[in-house]
Amino acid sequence: MTDPTDCNCSVSLSRRRLLASALAWPLLAESGPAVLKIVVAGGHPGDPECGCAGTIVRLTDLGHQVAILYLNRGEGYCGGASLDRCAAIRTAEAQSACRILKARAAFAGQVDGRAIVDAAHYEAFARVLAAENPDVVFTQWPIDRHPDHGAISLLTTNAWLKSGRKFALYYYEVAEDTMMFTPTGYVDISGVESRRRAACYAHVSQQPDKWYPKQVEITCRRGVESGVAQAEGFAHHPESRRVALP
Ligand SMILES: [Zn+2]
Repeated sequence: MTDPTDCNCSVSLSRRRLLASALAWPLLAESGPAVLKIVVAGGHPGDPECGCAGTIVRLTDLGHQVAILYLNRGEGYCGGASLDRCAAIRTAEAQSACRILKARAAFAGQVDGRAIVDAAHYEAFARVLAAENPDVVFTQWPIDRHPDHGAISLLTTNAWLKSGRKFALYYYEVAEDTMMFTPTGYVDISGVESRRRAACYAHVSQQPDKWYPKQVEITCRRGVESGVAQAEGFAHHPESRRVALP
C-alpha cells in the first residue's frame, strides 16, 4: 500500500507545487445551489473554531450559511466553576466566536465528557442534523484522544448514512487530539488569519495560548503541503458528494 504523504525525493519542487495546487479546492461551487448550507460539527465549544475557523470565514465571506453544531456546551471544564456556570460561560464564548465567523451557534444537547453513542442518541443527533438540511457537513476525525471528539464523528457519519448520503462530508483535525489524519484537500486561510485567531481566542476559559500555537503549526504544515502560507486540511469521505470549497 502506498502512503500518499510519502515524499518522493525525485519529484521536483515545482512538480510538488503542481500536485499541491491540484489538491487545493477551487473558489466557487461548481454545481448545486449558489448559497450552500453548511454545518460544522464539533465535540465541544472551540473544536470547530480550532479546526475550521479559517474555512468558515472563507465560506461566510462568499455568502454561504454556516451553522456550528456543538455536541455539548462544554460544561465539564472551564476552570473549576459549577457545571451550570461553565455551560453558561462556554455557551457565551461559542456565541462570540460565531459572531466573529458570521456563523450561527447550535447545540446538540449532550453533556461534556459523557458523550453517549447508542441507538437513541444516533437517532436524536440525526434528527438535529436533518433539521439543518445541510449541503455540506464538516466533523471531527474519528481517531482522536478525546471520546467526545470520536463521538461527534461517529454521530455525524451515522446521520449522513441515515440521510441517504445526502450531503458532502468532510473531516477536520484539531491540535493535540487528532491522530492518523491525512488531508485529501486544503483551504487557503492565509488571508483570514486574524479572524480565525479572534474566533479561537473568544474561548477565553480554554486558555487559547496553550493550544492555538499548536494549531498554527498544523496550518503552516498544511500550507507547505498545499503551496500557500497557511491552510486547513480536510479529509473528504470518498462515498459522499463533492462540493467545491474555497
Ligand atoms: Zn474538544
